[in-house]
Amino acid sequence: MQIYDLIIIGAGPAGITASVYSARKKINFLVISLDIGGQAAWSGDIENYTGYQFITGPELAQKFQEHMRKYDTVLKENEEVLELKKSAGGFLIKTNKADYQSRSVIIASGKKSKELGVPGEKEFKNRGLTYCATCDGPLFSAKTVAVVGGGNSALDAALQLVKIARQVYIVNNTSALGGDAIMRQKIEVSGNVTIFNNSQIISVAGDKFVRGIKIKDNGELKDLAVEGVFVEIGLVPNSAFAGEVEKNSKGEVKINLRNETNIPGVFAAGDVTDVPEKQIIIAAGEGSKAALSVFRYLAINKF
Ligand SMILES: Cc1cc2nc3c(=O)[nH]c(=O)nc-3n(C[C@H](O)[C@H](O)[C@H](O)COP(=O)(O)OP(=O)(O)OC[C@H]3O[C@@H](n4cnc5c(N)ncnc54)[C@H](O)[C@@H]3O)c2cc1C
Repeated sequence: MQIYDLIIIGAGPAGITASVYSARKKINFLVISLDIGGQAAWSGDIENYTGYQFITGPELAQKFQEHMRKYDTVLKENEEVLELKKSAGGFLIKTNKADYQSRSVIIASGKKSKELGVPGEKEFKNRGLTYCATCDGPLFSAKTVAVVGGGNSALDAALQLVKIARQVYIVNNTSALGGDAIMRQKIEVSGNVTIFNNSQIISVAGDKFVRGIKIKDNGELKDLAVEGVFVEIGLVPNSAFAGEVEKNSKGEVKINLRNETNIPGVFAAGDVTDVPEKQIIIAAGEGSKAALSVFRYLAINKF
C-alpha cells in the first residue's frame, strides 16, 4: 500500500487551505472528503471573508475548489473516513471505500447539523425537512416554511428564505432570538416572518411530503401548516472516527497553537477543533498553520 506523507481529512475551508499550503511545500499528500466546500457552501451571503466585500457561500466554495485543483491535488471525493488509528510507521485511515496509510494526518472534518430528535424527522428528511437552506431553499418558492432554531445559522436560513418563501415561521426555544444584531434587524423588517419564542417543535407530519408541524408555543400546543422545515439548531463536530485523539466535552479535537493534537503526527484545523471562533477565515488560517506544522514535523522526523 502506498504511504503518503500526509492525508487531509475534509475539504472545507480548513482542509482546502491546508491542501494549497501542502502542495506549495511539495508534500506528497491526499485529501479525503465527503464533499467540497463544507459548511462554507451552505452559507447564504458572506460579508466577512477579507478581500470579498460580498460573496455567496457556493461562489466562495467554488473559488476554494478552483484554487485547490490548480495544484493537481489528489482528492478522494464522496468518501467518508470511518476510522483513524496508529499503524507501523504512521497512521491507517479506513474509509467506506478503501484503506490508506500516511505518516501524518490533518483532521479538518468540521461540523455537521444537530438533529431534532422528534417524531417525523427521519421520515420526512429530504421530503420537506432539510438541514441546508442554501442547498434546498429554492425548492420552496412561494410556500410557507418553518425554521427551527434561533442563532446565527437559523437567522442566515430565515434571511435566505424570506426572499423565496411566502411566509417564514421561526420556532425558537429561548425568550428572544440570538445571533448577530444586524441579522436580527433584517429579519424584523422583512415583513413575512413570524417568530415563536419560548417554543419547541414537537413533531413533523405530512403525507409524501411535509404538510405541517406541531409546536408548543409558551406551553400551548399549536399546529402550523408548512411545506418545509429547516433545522438550524446547531452543529456537532465530525470527530467520532478519531477515537484515540483527545477531545473536549463538546467532542472538539484539542489542539495547541501549532495545531498539534495529543498524538504526534496528527494535526487538526478548523471547526472540528477547540479553537473558540467558528468562521471561514479562521478555519482557512488554521488550515494553513496545520500544513506548515506538518511540513516541520516531516522535516524533523526525516521521513
Ligand atoms: C448556515 C451557515 C452560515 C455560515 N455563515 C458564515 C459566514 O457568513 N461567515 C463565516 O466566516 N462563517 C460562516 N459560517 C461558518 C463557516 O462555514 C465554518 O466556520 C467553516 O466552514 C468551517 O470550515 P472547516 O473547514 O473547519 O469545516 P467544514 O466547513 O465543516 O468542512 C468540513 C469538511 O469535512 C468533510 N468531512 C466531514 N466528516 C468527514 C468524514 N468522516 N470523512 C471525510 N470527510 C468528512 C465535509 O464533507 C467537509 O468537506 C456559516 C456556517 C453555516 C452552517
